[in-house]
Amino acid sequence: MSRLPESPPCPFCEGRETELFNAFGAHASVSSYWCRDCRSPFELLKWAPAERSGPRPHRVESRPEGTG
Ligand SMILES: [Zn+2]
Repeated sequence: MSRLPESPPCPFCEGRETELFNAFGAHASVSSYWCRDCRSPFELLKWAPAERSGPRPHRVESRPEGTG
C-alpha cells in the first residue's frame, strides 16, 4: 500500500488542518481529504500520472497444442 500524506496542505486555503477521510475517493487514484479550516473536501492524487514510455506490450499468438 502506498503511503498517503496525513495532512497535505489545503488547495483552497493552504491550511494544514486537513485530515484523510477516504483513502479511495471518486477514483482509485485519488484520496479524499477534509479541510477543517475552510470546511471543504478536496481530493489528492495518490501518484503523479506517469507518461507512457518504453516498449508497449504486444499480443502474443498462442500455438495450438497437440502437434508432434
Ligand atoms: Zn482549506
